[in-house]
Amino acid sequence: MTADEMLKGIRQALKEEYDLLPSISKVDVEGPTIVFYCKDFTAFVENAGLVRELAKKFRKRILLRPDPSLRLEERKAEEEIRRIVPAEAEIRSLEFNEELGEVIIEAVKPGMVVGKEGVIFREILGKTGWAPRVVRAPPIRSTFVDHLYRSLRADLETRRSVLRKIGRRIYRGRASKQEWVRVTFLGGSREVGRSAVLLQTPESRILLDCGVNVASEEKAYPYMDVPEADLRQIEAVVLSHAHLDHSGFVFSLFRYGYEGPVYCTPPTRDLVLLLGSDYLKVCEEQGREPPFGRDEMRAFLTHCITLNYGEVTDISPDVKITFHNAGHILGSCVTHLHIGEGLHNLVYAGDIKFEKTRLFLPAARIFPRVETLIMESTYGGPEDAHPPRDQAEAELIQTTNSTLERGGKVIIPVFSVGRSQEIMLVFADAYQKGLFEGKVYLDGMIWDATCVHALYPEYLNPEIREQILSEDSNPFRAPIFERVEGPDHRQAVIKSDEPCVILSTSGMMTGGPVLEYFKHLAENERNSLIFVGYQAEGSLGSRIQKGCPEVPMPEPGGRIRGVKVKLQVKTIEGFSGHSDRSHLINWVKRMRPKPSRVICCHGEESKCLSLASAIHRILSVETRAPYNLETIRLR
Ligand code: ZN
Repeated sequence: MTADEMLKGIRQALKEEYDLLPSISKVDVEGPTIVFYCKDFTAFVENAGLVRELAKKFRKRILLRPDPSLRLEERKAEEEIRRIVPAEAEIRSLEFNEELGEVIIEAVKPGMVVGKEGVIFREILGKTGWAPRVVRAPPIRSTFVDHLYRSLRADLETRRSVLRKIGRRIYRGRASKQEWVRVTFLGGSREVGRSAVLLQTPESRILLDCGVNVASEEKAYPYMDVPEADLRQIEAVVLSHAHLDHSGFVFSLFRYGYEGPVYCTPPTRDLVLLLGSDYLKVCEEQGREPPFGRDEMRAFLTHCITLNYGEVTDISPDVKITFHNAGHILGSCVTHLHIGEGLHNLVYAGDIKFEKTRLFLPAARIFPRVETLIMESTYGGPEDAHPPRDQAEAELIQTTNSTLERGGKVIIPVFSVGRSQEIMLVFADAYQKGLFEGKVYLDGMIWDATCVHALYPEYLNPEIREQILSEDSNPFRAPIFERVEGPDHRQAVIKSDEPCVILSTSGMMTGGPVLEYFKHLAENERNSLIFVGYQAEGSLGSRIQKGCPEVPMPEPGGRIRGVKVKLQVKTIEGFSGHSDRSHLINWVKRMRPKPSRVICCHGEESKCLSLASAIHRILSVETRAPYNLETIRLR
């Protein structure tokens, strides 16, 4: 069945079973979504459950779009919307999009624009003929987020034609009667970095993650030059989360001819763009040729299709995906892939945390069906046991306070996404309890990343969500935090006598402003350097962590200077966004249903092997720890 035949079938059902055809002028596809162009919304306004019922019947995502003939003139529509929406929603702006027949309503409380069970949403639709798209007004402003919002609203015409093409491809119908499933590991197996797994069926080639290894030059990119990774034949890329080792190669795909969709959660999309622009900046600073540019970032945005947790979505004629919480960083997901009509169910886990943290709930563990699980092994070794979180937090505050007391500064290298917000929350909490006083400077992209967190409270655990939504208790706005505005400000922080804390990127000291702080503060023993995250083999962070007494650092003008490491170096385990060995095993143990095969990747070789053998022993399931380029047949 082709897309046109499918649409014909839907039209027929709308006519014969629902008598809706007189009110629907056109049915079309945009990406995985079926769009109904309506001439009359009465049926939908009167029956709140109708869209849900149709979505269930056709097993597709459904979007209503008003027929242009219905639309009120913009000024009148705006008056009407302001009358319908309660004032407490605090509408910040209204923007009409002629092309899509949409009105973008930015409000402080978006839930109140939608109303209970969408009642206000439907009233707007029915009375104005414009389809509302409700977005949350950013609680903390950042130029990155403002720019992102503008980009999302630009060039919708191109985006729509891209989505129609993608939709026709998804619903092209099955061509083969054969049934088999296999996965090929293109990177990130028996190593950390450049994660990429190619899923193949007779109908589909789907790339799960597409990362880079920032700590290695020879092993920087996944093996995209093998014949089965032909970019013209890959029809979808699915990203588990925004960290560069899972998403850093996605822009480059568009440089080498990829034209298909990229599926991820909305926060992952935003963070991928944020980390992408940071990566470009670091390359520029280091005089390296970046593997992508602004054009590829724009192409990514045009081809990106966002899905929230729990939305079942067709991405090819024989693959449906659903995202679930992974507990690792904002927007991170465990992807459930339903292949064929019940042929095979694969769960691809990316990175996970199976514990509640200050930001997230533990990773999901219940799925409709699971035969194969692909999981990470970062801390899968027998020695890998994280201390409890509260112990780590106490140690951080204690080390910080004693450094400040002796008049020193504390440098904490962090990834801009994830660790920095967790650490910020630890300081905000200690400040509130009177256990910490002082300035915490935020440098690199940390501020922008924090703003993205504040945009998506529904992706955070209930407590922090509540705090962010209430104006005066947003911990990210605590007075201890100050953003470093640029090189002059940075030098002022370095030179001042004021003891302080500096949170700065990059997390493994492979680049970014943290190097500037380190260079100037390393030779003073009053200062401290605290590692709170994973330091990959070969990174500067890892060398310092292992006790290297002197490190060469570039000076302006290209000269190299040996910097003596005299400051106190400390590693505090327990802040990781990953689960340790016992939690990883526990997650598989508690997964329902129990998977019959577990594939361990994303870890140093010994850890992948050790975790695979432990899971085999404890749970008596088949386990594997594949090599890069190895293919495993699942069905
Ligand atoms: Zn990660």
